[in-house]
Amino acid sequence: MSFRFLLFAILIVTLTPKCSAQNVPVVVLDPGHGGRVSSPLAVYGDKYDAIAGEYQDKFRPGAYYKGIWENEAMYDIVFRAREILNLTLEEETQPEFEKILSRYGKASGGIKPVQAHLSREQSAPNIYFSIRKDPNAPYRLFDYPDIETEELKQGTISRINALKPQLVVSVHLTASDGGKNGAMAAVITPGYKTFNIARDYVNSSAANRKKIQQNFLRSQWGNWFIAAQGYDPFESFLCDAWIYYTGGWSNPSGLSPKKDSFRGYRQNMISWSYSDDADWWKEAANHPKETRYDSNLSSFKPNGPFWKRETSQPESWRRENGPEGYGGDNFYASQEIMRYVQTSFIQKGIDTEATSPEIRNPYLSTWSVPTYVNAVAAYLEIAHLLSSRDRMRMTKHRDVYAEGLAVGVYSLVYPVENKLKGKNGPKGKPVDFHKYKSLPQGNYFEAVVK
Ligand SMILES: [Zn+2]
Repeated sequence: MSFRFLLFAILIVTLTPKCSAQNVPVVVLDPGHGGRVSSPLAVYGDKYDAIAGEYQDKFRPGAYYKGIWENEAMYDIVFRAREILNLTLEEETQPEFEKILSRYGKASGGIKPVQAHLSREQSAPNIYFSIRKDPNAPYRLFDYPDIETEELKQGTISRINALKPQLVVSVHLTASDGGKNGAMAAVITPGYKTFNIARDYVNSSAANRKKIQQNFLRSQWGNWFIAAQGYDPFESFLCDAWIYYTGGWSNPSGLSPKKDSFRGYRQNMISWSYSDDADWWKEAANHPKETRYDSNLSSFKPNGPFWKRETSQPESWRRENGPEGYGGDNFYASQEIMRYVQTSFIQKGIDTEATSPEIRNPYLSTWSVPTYVNAVAAYLEIAHLLSSRDRMRMTKHRDVYAEGLAVGVYSLVYPVENKLKGKNGPKGKPVDFHKYKSLPQGNYFEAVVK
């Protein structure tokens, strides 16, 4: 046996996974935002639209406040969380993970592996020289043309989908007020059923519109995220529903399109199974009436692969009803991870129940990551930077966030016998991923790319 062959044989033995790689749950940790606002928009913007052949939106770089950059802090935290989850991959390091987990609960049947990926590479300045011509390249959510070759590159959402994960955890910071203790909040998006209320609204009589509005405002989606100045929560919902269906904004009335507000068809700005076929932009260019490219919601028709997906059962599981009463498995996964983060701060003695970061009501809108992945998508604003206590945590205790995230992720995938007391603690109940994997048409997580 030659030395080279021996090496090869050793490699094969080492690389053969202890349990088949196919059964190892795949999770993507997605650190939020980054980049910078640069002009012109046509070169450095966001939301590249194939019809216009240019960016339709300005670039949003995320939160910065008093020396804390969202992209850097979030990358650091998810990197550490992945290090902790990586302990589950090898028999030799599993006891270390078990020790960490034992502060929260007990894994029934021993530690099992979780394969965690990050949605992007390390942030600038490490990669600054490779991206200096287009500093927003690593951070765009949607596919974008390479600044030199014009070749279409995969944005964050396409990179996530290519990994076919069953769980995605996006972590963000917001430069807004978190009160005395600091705060966390889920970021969730409803399913088709809820957005369709806007279609009913535009096609109803004035009297019925009033009723639809009242019902919406009384529902769990009523406290909708304000889209822009001059829009109240219901008007913001209508505007976001227009964006979801037609790619453009509505005026506050929700009854007519807002001039020059088209931002592209997001389902066709990513690489996945549900885009329209390659020539779609030829038909879409004139926004023909009574088609999926209609720019008026009242005559819009939801045809084609994406709209078929939107009305499917797994999308309803992800985004509607579910263990929290609304928001589906996405909301449950988000809440559960935040409950573990909260617990992590209490366990480590940094906070008591009385000082731990509050879990606030979710931010409700048409968010992109939770919409355009097939995975259960947790999305967290993990700290509010105007709170000095959150800034203290974000400066000194990133390891505590990371541990809460890692244990939270593990508990969503495998059962953890919860040993924590208190009504606000984690439920310790995994998401029912099996139902997504055993659909008549196959595994939903794998169907996301062809
Ligand atoms: Zn963000």
